Amino acid sequence: MESLALFKIALFLVIIIPAPKQSYCQTVNFAVYAEKQEDCKEFAEAAEKLRKEISERWLGYVVADLNSPCILDLKINPNAGPRGNTSFAFQFGGVWNFRMELVGPKESLLDSVLPHEIAHIVLACHFKKPVPRWADEGCATYVECVREQKIHNRMLRRFLIQQRTFAFAHIMTMKEYPRDIMPFYAGSHSLCEYLVKLKGERHFISYISEGMQTQNWEEATKKYYGFEKMKDLGNSWHRWFFQNDYAKLKMVSTPKTTISSK
Ligand SMILES: [Zn+2]
Repeated sequence: MESLALFKIALFLVIIIPAPKQSYCQTVNFAVYAEKQEDCKEFAEAAEKLRKEISERWLGYVVADLNSPCILDLKINPNAGPRGNTSFAFQFGGVWNFRMELVGPKESLLDSVLPHEIAHIVLACHFKKPVPRWADEGCATYVECVREQKIHNRMLRRFLIQQRTFAFAHIMTMKEYPRDIMPFYAGSHSLCEYLVKLKGERHFISYISEGMQTQNWEEATKKYYGFEKMKDLGNSWHRWFFQNDYAKLKMVSTPKTTISSK
C-alpha cells in the first residue's frame, strides 16, 4: 500500500514537472543545446569566433575544424555560480568526442567561461596530446575577462601570504590536478601571465612545445626565457607579482567563480 502511494506521488511529480524544452543550433564546430533558440545561436557563433581568435593569438594560425562538432550543453541560470567543463579524447593521433557543459549567468559564461573552455579545445587541437596542467589552465584563465583575472590575482596574493601554494619545482611536470585546486589555478594563471608579458603568447606556446618534447624544463626555460635555473624563474615571477600594480587593484565583484575543466 505504502509503496503504491509512493509510486503515485512519483508519477504525479513526473507528470506535473515536464523537462524544459530543448532547442538546438549547429555550426561547423559546435552543436549547442539550450532552452532558448536564440541562446543556442549566440553561443555557437561566439564559440566559433573565440576558436579563431584564440588560435590566431596563441598559435599564429587557426586550428583545423574539429573531427565532429563539440556537443555543448548550455544551462543558463542567473542564480548559479558560473562553471564549465570540457572533455575530449586523444586517439589515433587526433582529438575526438568533444563535449562541453556550461552553467551560470549568461554574461559570465560569454565573457569568461566559454573563452576558458575554448582555450582548452584550441590547445588540445594544436598539441594533439595532453598539455601540462599548469600551462593548459594558465592559458585558459588568461583568456578570461579582466574582472576574473583580477580575482585570480587577488586570490593568489592571499594564498601566497597564507603560504598555501603548490611546490613551484613540481608544477612543470604535474600531470593531474592537485587536491588544493584554487591556489593551483591562481598560480598557473599568474605564471602564464608573467611569461606572456615577457615574450608573448606564441613564444610561450613554443616553450611549452619544447618542454613537452624534451621533458627538460630547466633547459627549455633557459633557452626561451634566459633563466639559468627553475628557481630563478620562480623568484623573478614572485618578485614581479608582488610589484605588479595589477594585483593591487580592487576587485570589481565578489569571488564566486568555480571553473573546473578537463
Ligand atoms: Zn580549465
